[in-house]
Amino acid sequence: MEALIRNLSIIAYYLSEFDMKAVNALGYANRSIAFKEISIAMGKPNNYLKRRRDEFDVITSSQRRGQCNRPVLPAVQEIFDEFHCLSFDEMTQIVKEIIAHGTLQISSEELQDDAYLHSIDNTLTPNCGQKRIATSPVPVHKRTITERKAFWRDPVVAANALCNADYKCEICESHETFIRKSTNKPYTEPHHLVPMSAQDKFNVSLDVENNIVSLCSNCHNHLHYGTEIDPLLKTLFEKRKELLLKAGISISYEELKNLY
Ligand SMILES: [Zn+2]
Ligand SMILES: [Zn+2]
Repeated sequence: MEALIRNLSIIAYYLSEFDMKAVNALGYANRSIAFKEISIAMGKPNNYLKRRRDEFDVITSSQRRGQCNRPVLPAVQEIFDEFHCLSFDEMTQIVKEIIAHGTLQISSEELQDDAYLHSIDNTLTPNCGQKRIATSPVPVHKRTITERKAFWRDPVVAANALCNADYKCEICESHETFIRKSTNKPYTEPHHLVPMSAQDKFNVSLDVENNIVSLCSNCHNHLHYGTEIDPLLKTLFEKRKELLLKAGISISYEELKNLY
């Protein structure tokens, strides 16, 4: 099980088993605030944890009987088997640590990418994504996540950016990819050419189609984790420099390179 999903499952189990006692122990006024704030802090949509909690209601001692006819999902059974012997206090400790860790990850673009790629995949449908570029600068979109500034990245903007590129890799159109289940279109990943971590240096939004390139998984990971990224970065910069200016993003190649 992927680490993020496992951690969210542990929280969902805790909220199902201990309900308001858990909500209070984590310092939230009510269930809906707890679901919403923890989901967002962990990089998921507002109602994510509520849905996951419902999955656990089938198996825990929860009094919410509405879900009791549903089958127990294997992943739910697995988490339950592993944690149901722990006490309320032990579980509280574990969940607090997960939330603190998840919240820390929000400030790091790379670690957040996993949640971001998931949110894009959840947004994509066969007819979503339209060819669109910004013709003037776009205001910065900020969201406050538990006292920490994080820059919200809109999955719809990312979907448009992939569409603009006809779902091809912008390093080279011939790069091989595969078909995405949710859309039946080639799978590519959105990458912010000027990284979102540099948003504070700009007074216009970096989360615009003009700044998002479509890359095959290999090129995307090369840019984030590889050496000798110069040829890739130069190719992308040359392709995008005019579109960047159109969105009010003024940057030289040297300045861009320093952000990587
Ligand atoms: Zn990226
Ligand atoms: Zn590629």
